[in-house]
Amino acid sequence: MICLRCAADNRPSAIYCAACGLKLDTRPEYQYVEAPKDRVETASGRAILSASLGISSFLPFCGPITGITAILLSAWELEKIKSGNSSGAGRLAATLGLWTGFVGSVVWLLYWIWKLYYSTPVSEDMILA
Ligand SMILES: [Zn+2]
Repeated sequence: MICLRCAADNRPSAIYCAACGLKLDTRPEYQYVEAPKDRVETASGRAILSASLGISSFLPFCGPITGITAILLSAWELEKIKSGNSSGAGRLAATLGLWTGFVGSVVWLLYWIWKLYYSTPVSEDMILA
């Protein structure tokens, strides 16, 4: 039996350490303090999805379809984070979804307005030429 204080090797049946006199069944008293659960804070699927949709709203044929969905989804997610019903880790993703969705929709809209407004109808002169 190894003494916990002086590391002397004692007989297995020994109650006290032969070298220092420590009671051999004495164990250092560890404090088992229940550590707060190390919750891994991860963004919710909804937050990730809103960011993905927001970013995809920049794709040519997505625009407001995914953009507005992203805005609604991220607004919902941010509300849930605010009320404590969703992990705060998703805040960045949800905010990203909100803004990319908004910008993506606006860019899409401006693009089509520009295209319709400035596209010159094919004139007869051009056809005959
Ligand atoms: Zn000892």
